Amino acid sequence: MTDDFFADFGETLHQAAKEFTAKTDNFFEGQKMRNKISGEQRQIDQCLKDVGNIIYEKFVEGEPLHEDVAVLCEEITEHKMAIAKMRENMARKRGEKVCAACGAALPKEARFCLQCGAECEDEPEEEVVEDPEPAPEEKDDPFAEKEQQEDAEQEKDPQDL
Ligand SMILES: [Zn+2]
Repeated sequence: MTDDFFADFGETLHQAAKEFTAKTDNFFEGQKMRNKISGEQRQIDQCLKDVGNIIYEKFVEGEPLHEDVAVLCEEITEHKMAIAKMRENMARKRGEKVCAACGAALPKEARFCLQCGAECEDEPEEEVVEDPEPAPEEKDDPFAEKEQQEDAEQEKDPQDL
């Protein structure tokens, strides 16, 4: 008997809600669910990232890993090195240097990193200077272009008018 009562009561409520908010409710309900789903997805992504970081740390520490995982870790290291190199180049152009430990840009005269506190040795000046002179043969041949232009002009030139 009580079961019936609650069933009826529930049905009445259900019906009322249906009539009340049929259109907008669907919209907001859908929006809410989408937000919840993307919230869950963000949690998953963060966990995956954390898992990746933990595994990558193990790779850096030299722990033997499954081959597929090791290949990906090597790829991460390559990208990190590429970033470090670009940061260093940018800093050098600004007359700064880069902390070897954390990658922060520092004034050239800094002895310790302002970001992580690591000791920063002065870069040997010679390394910066030794830039190989570009071979003159490698430069674009201005004559080749000129000849082509002259050829084109000759073609355009109406000799027999
Ligand atoms: Zn640092």
